[in-house]
Amino acid sequence: MSAGGFGRHDVIGSVPSVTLGHTASCATNLAGPQPSPARARALHGKAARAMRALRSLTLVLMVSGCAKTEAASSAEADEPVVELAPVAEVGAPIREGHRAPTEAMGLPEPPTTLPLALLATMASADPEQARATIRDEERKVVATFRAGDLVRDGVRLSAVHRRFAILQREGGEHESLVMENTTVELTADDVFYPDLLDDLDLPNSMADAVQLTPGPGYIVKKPVFAWGTPRTVHLLRETARLYTRRFHDGPPVRIGDISKKEGGPFPPHVSHQTGRDVDIGYVLHGAQSEVTRFVPATARNLDRARTWALVDALLSTDGVSHVFMDYEIQAMLYEHAKAEGVAPERLARLFQYPHGRYAWNGIIRHWKGHHDHLHVRFKP
Ligand SMILES: [Zn+2]
Repeated sequence: MSAGGFGRHDVIGSVPSVTLGHTASCATNLAGPQPSPARARALHGKAARAMRALRSLTLVLMVSGCAKTEAASSAEADEPVVELAPVAEVGAPIREGHRAPTEAMGLPEPPTTLPLALLATMASADPEQARATIRDEERKVVATFRAGDLVRDGVRLSAVHRRFAILQREGGEHESLVMENTTVELTADDVFYPDLLDDLDLPNSMADAVQLTPGPGYIVKKPVFAWGTPRTVHLLRETARLYTRRFHDGPPVRIGDISKKEGGPFPPHVSHQTGRDVDIGYVLHGAQSEVTRFVPATARNLDRARTWALVDALLSTDGVSHVFMDYEIQAMLYEHAKAEGVAPERLARLFQYPHGRYAWNGIIRHWKGHHDHLHVRFKP
């Protein structure tokens, strides 16, 4: 799909303040003294930007050929049905908020106590098409998920229905996440990730730099050095999503340096200047897989299956130019992938191994110093 029709900054990064539905905080804001005309105009400007952000949210849900936004208009069982939380512009008359009629909806599971807000659902007879857009109230991140995705660590989205979703905790317990008619309030600090976009048509320069904040399935070693282009950040989140779908019990992907906020020279790195280079830890066995610092991978501690799944996830985004890793580690992953049944043509296309560490073969190349992490360079 094309990202045309709304501003780039609405697609990813901070969104302006927006109020969905009505809350106490909204009432507090509006019940006080009337704002000055200038202040009122500013508020309305904010609301307009918020509406654009919400439209981008809708667009994310519309990916995969869903043409309907009006739930009531779709009766066919196999048509995806999109439901959005109600939106009130700042300054609109306050209506009394009410909680969703959870019991009347016949929820199959008890309501969740997690600090999550369901902003939109796209229910579909085809589970592959179903999506839920959720705001993590603690992390202030808005993202869209499919069934099977980690919503936060240890919590997976299990199913999406109209106006509610089912979550599954690590222990197996199920909980309902209901779209409330009361308020969800987005703030200026909120980060909106356009997850589930299928194309690479996202800004790819540091002029639009976005910070990768920690999220489900991955940790960020130093968020202050985790600024990348919107496309890079999107592809990293997609990589973590693919990796965690494959291995439900794997350790988190460990993301190291990307770039500084403004890009440019970033010693001691020679690259990492344009928001398209990322250091990622190998997946290791045992306790070493959880430590934030990078630990050298060896034949003993390298978790070949999960590291291969990670590399495979990266490559399947189609946005990778090169992956740099130590030649010895390449050899271990190559042998593992071969044993897993990866086709010889694909192996030849991906790996420099076995042609020698200075050969100009493959997307995966040797680079000295990459025995404790791999370095991925995304396409320009
Ligand atoms: Zn690097």
